[in-house]
Amino acid sequence: MTNQFDVVVIGAGPAGACAAKMLVDSGLSVVVVEKEQFPRFSIGESLLPQCMSFLEQAGLKDLVDNGGFQYKNGAAFFKSGQYTVFNFAEKLTTGPATTYQVKRADFDKKLADAAEQAGAEIRYQHQVTSFNQQESNVVLGINDLDKQQQYQLQGRFVLDASGFGRVLPRLLDLESPSDFPVRQAIFTHIQDNLPASFDRHKILITVYPHNPDIWFWLIPFSDGTSSLGMVGEQRFFSEFTHLSEEQILWHFIQQTEDLADLLVAAKVTGPVRKIAGYTANVNSLYGERYALLGNAGEFLDPVFSSGVTIALKSAVLAAPLVHKQLKGESVDWQSEFSQPLRLGISTFRHFVVSWYDRRLQDIIFYPHSQPEIKQMICSILAGYAWDQANPYVGGNGKRLKVLAEICAN
Ligand code: FAD
Repeated sequence: MTNQFDVVVIGAGPAGACAAKMLVDSGLSVVVVEKEQFPRFSIGESLLPQCMSFLEQAGLKDLVDNGGFQYKNGAAFFKSGQYTVFNFAEKLTTGPATTYQVKRADFDKKLADAAEQAGAEIRYQHQVTSFNQQESNVVLGINDLDKQQQYQLQGRFVLDASGFGRVLPRLLDLESPSDFPVRQAIFTHIQDNLPASFDRHKILITVYPHNPDIWFWLIPFSDGTSSLGMVGEQRFFSEFTHLSEEQILWHFIQQTEDLADLLVAAKVTGPVRKIAGYTANVNSLYGERYALLGNAGEFLDPVFSSGVTIALKSAVLAAPLVHKQLKGESVDWQSEFSQPLRLGISTFRHFVVSWYDRRLQDIIFYPHSQPEIKQMICSILAGYAWDQANPYVGGNGKRLKVLAEICAN
């Protein structure tokens, strides 16, 4: 077993698997160090159409198209009896208009297996514990969790795709505080028994009628089950500490008539999980011999399902740059990686901020929206957050403010 590779990737989630696949395809030797055994549960089950282009760039799209996943063509929103739909076919930006709702255990395993088949070595149940930069390479400390043995791996470049593990941000002190309040999510899988008239081709976002800061997701899968979850500021849950997570979830659903009616015959099938304080940021997305991908860099909020799309975007941006650098060419990671990646992240950031201050909720539920404006908003909801032809991409969020004022009057 060799312990010297061109590239070491930390984590075999979508960002890590996609980057590994592209790097081996370009002729580099790649090892992926993954602390879990796959398949394993992960949250983040509703994809956006934009990520199909990234999967295509990595040669992974056919695999996903043929994976038996739930077809998705839009997003639907419910709020106190108002129901509105965004059909991705009506977006401004050209590119795929459909995607999938996926159980991540299955989806992530498919991507990781494809990277392995292409030639990446994946070491499951191996955990990265340290990082030491040397003159011409990086030495990582690895814990083989199965054999309870420590060893070292050498790479000429490291991609940290460790998601919420945030390996390099923690080891290299790169973390930067988020300015979002601490929110938490409670979620599970259900046998949904949804009415036959329910549109399974869309994620449904329902706003809690008594506090619009709280919302629910319902993400139907292709096998009659759904992912069901709720999100809200942690402080809103402080009076419920005597209840189990499952009781809290159903307590809020019962008070949300639109959703309670839909879920009248639903049965919980999976464990009910909770995750809190997931928002994360870093002061730099790269260093001399490393770059941060996906959630290991920045994570905003689940409301627009942007996580996997950003993770895949970071992978398709970084992989060719690593190849270029290891060939001896110079790479400007700031202008070629960080800035382009952060353009889309900042687009989503404005959307997330204005969702929680209600402005975007006013826009989404506005009954008289102009078709051209709706196409632009629809493009972002479909993940096209990097298309500079769309005035709502990047900027400072002022356009959304103006639009919200029009919708509010
Ligand atoms: P991950 O998928 O998290 O993969 C990281 C991998 O690294 C893991 O397999 C982990 O085991 C491994 N790892 C961690 N530490 C180490 C270590 N020390 N050594 C080795 N391996 C390690 N996104 C969407 O696109 N759609 C959604 O609907 C959506 N819903 C969400 C709901 C909630 C409540 C939250 C919190 C997030 C949601 N997201 C969603 C975001 C999504 O979960 C992430 O953005 C996405 O999984 C990031 O992918 P990744 O490849 O960066 O990391």
